[in-house]
Amino acid sequence: IYAVVATAALLCVADKAICQVNTVEGRVNALLAKMTLEEKVGQLNQYNGNWEATGPVSQVGDKIAAVKAGRVGAVLNIMGTAHVKAFQDAAMQSRLKIPLLFGQDVIHGYSITFPIPLAQAASWDVEAIERAERVAAIESAASGINWTFSPMVDIARDPRWGRVMEGAGEDPFLGSKIAVARVKGFQGKGLGAPDAIMACAKHFVAYGAAIGGRDYNSVDMSLHSLWETYLPPFYAAQQAGVATFMNSFNDLNGIPASGSSYLQRDILKGKWNFKGFIVSDWGSIGEMVSHGYVKDNYEAAAVAIQAGSDMDMESGSYIGHLQQLVADKKVDVRLIDDAVRRILTKKFELGLFENPYRFIDAQREQTLLYTPENLAVAREVARKSIVLLKNDQHLLPITPGKSIGLIGPLVKAKKELKGFWSLNVNPGEDIPSLMDGLQAQLPDAQLLYARGCGITDSSRAGFDEAVTVARQSDVVIMAVGEAPDMTGEAKSRSSIHLPGIQEELVKAIVATGKPVVLVLMAGRPIVFDWASEHVPTIVYAWWLGSQGGNAMADVLLGKYNPSAKLPMTFPRSEGQIPIYYNHYSTGRPPASDTDRFYKSAYTDLLNSPRYAFGHGLSYTSFAYSDLKWEITGKENIKVSFQVKNTGGYAGEETSQLYIHNIVSRPLRPVKELKGFKKVFLQPGETKAVTIVFTKEELCSYNEKLEKVVLPVACQIMIGSASDDIRLQTATINNIFSEPL
Ligand code: BGC
Repeated sequence: IYAVVATAALLCVADKAICQVNTVEGRVNALLAKMTLEEKVGQLNQYNGNWEATGPVSQVGDKIAAVKAGRVGAVLNIMGTAHVKAFQDAAMQSRLKIPLLFGQDVIHGYSITFPIPLAQAASWDVEAIERAERVAAIESAASGINWTFSPMVDIARDPRWGRVMEGAGEDPFLGSKIAVARVKGFQGKGLGAPDAIMACAKHFVAYGAAIGGRDYNSVDMSLHSLWETYLPPFYAAQQAGVATFMNSFNDLNGIPASGSSYLQRDILKGKWNFKGFIVSDWGSIGEMVSHGYVKDNYEAAAVAIQAGSDMDMESGSYIGHLQQLVADKKVDVRLIDDAVRRILTKKFELGLFENPYRFIDAQREQTLLYTPENLAVAREVARKSIVLLKNDQHLLPITPGKSIGLIGPLVKAKKELKGFWSLNVNPGEDIPSLMDGLQAQLPDAQLLYARGCGITDSSRAGFDEAVTVARQSDVVIMAVGEAPDMTGEAKSRSSIHLPGIQEELVKAIVATGKPVVLVLMAGRPIVFDWASEHVPTIVYAWWLGSQGGNAMADVLLGKYNPSAKLPMTFPRSEGQIPIYYNHYSTGRPPASDTDRFYKSAYTDLLNSPRYAFGHGLSYTSFAYSDLKWEITGKENIKVSFQVKNTGGYAGEETSQLYIHNIVSRPLRPVKELKGFKKVFLQPGETKAVTIVFTKEELCSYNEKLEKVVLPVACQIMIGSASDDIRLQTATINNIFSEPL
């Protein structure tokens, strides 16, 4: 497709000589040869347009003038074809008519909001995630956007960090598979294909490891951890052909990412041979001044371009200083040429030179946004994201005919279900709340309701009414959690407990003796200790987006049998953070919940998490048997086993394959996910499951950061969760005798 677009001598908007060149590379070079230094620097500059599709037509005059002068290569936050067109028209009035890129944070949907990325990750369903991003791409492309600042592929192991909601959780293997799915979803059949928009793997790198979980904080990390844990999802995105990368706000071991040659030139553009371009994070080039890494924006621009940051988002350092830096002989113009080439290449590949308006079609915008078919995809993805944490008395699914009491501040939440990083493209949207979803499926049922308290309230004034409602009900569904803006950028929290007096409300309702189903909504793992111990049935519903209420009702009423699994460990208390399943063994035998004597343990808190990575229940039960493994085709390990649905409901199990490292030099984590498969089974049905993983996936890094280490002794484990292993092989010594 890329070749077709590149060679078609269509309406190339640049001048004729350029359009007659047959390769993208040739066209880029021909165009570059015509550009002044100012125009080149303009291509490296990205401005915020801040023009919402539905907002007032605000004054963007200065920016339009800058576009006409060829001083802007890309803009962000301009939504709606009418507004995008105004900017592209301005670009067409510039001397060389180089089309603009239009970037947007399409993080979990455009006009239809999908579940937050962490929730989607809980589905472990890479096909569903790819479909979600396809819809997001189709909608964005129809609205003039040709570039999303997504996926965020940062590994996150500290739930205090507000941005855990944007990623795929704690595990590099799962994170890598999801990164690939998202890139494929956005970029479709390849840039130049209809509805393909550029994806952006962010934030390069290690942003998720901010010290103390405090956003924008420093990162201090061994290179071993960087390579083992934080880089793999970025590498996977690069291998999947992601068009762009975004660097990050943090410094890594004393060097701000935007000024890091090691990260951007040595790893990304060097070792990984990345041919796309790197955009800075918002203002991150200028932030090197606050870091104390450079003394002013002039120096920041020099350091960033030398380190390989190609485009400056909003800091103004490049547009303000690069020309002078070249004149002062502080920056070699060839560095600027390289960055411009990378950006122009993407513009050619997107087909923008053939038709700068190919994403701008008001009619397409009208027909493709918010369609019933795409809403159905959102409902499907939302119900796949809901995790059944506990179902002790099999209260769920709720049997028909029961009188249901609905209690809690989130029962009627509508817009809140969109969560952070959702877009206001569709202000009239009527999102079904949990209550709406239940009522729609139980038209004859009388649903009793009491709010009880607000999310952050300290008044118990509503408790009595809530208790009365509980007493009048056969079963109570409580909806509690965080406010949607408690997670997201700059939303780190030192306490991740259920806010306000909501846990008190839960206690008051449980004290009535009525059966309680707790539905929790949040953008991160939260701590709800008392409730975990005392409420028999708990459902984790994150922020599920446009179809949230319907999806929750599908699960609660048994129209959909939950199959999601936690992509992040849930701690018992903040004191356990960071806590993740793939930790190392220590020199002491493992501590248990009953034996912590001189072990690596707290004296006042258990080591085990509240809910482990990979945990998630179903309304049915699954039995595992017949584990076999063999090496096939020299470098593949093929593992097979049987899964049987032993319960009364049809359902999908997410089987997980872990490597248990018994002896390894250097050490390897005690358990590592190396594969997973979702298998749908009717009651009584058995299916054979095969998971293949490669020698490369088994290898890890030595002290010189060469990927050559194999486990000396290991076991292959199959489980329903990282703490629910059902099958395991005998110890396997030297699984491959030779490293890679
Ligand atoms: C965020 C990025 C985002 C950018 C543009 C920054 O503050 O860190 O993730 O893409 O803003 O909105």
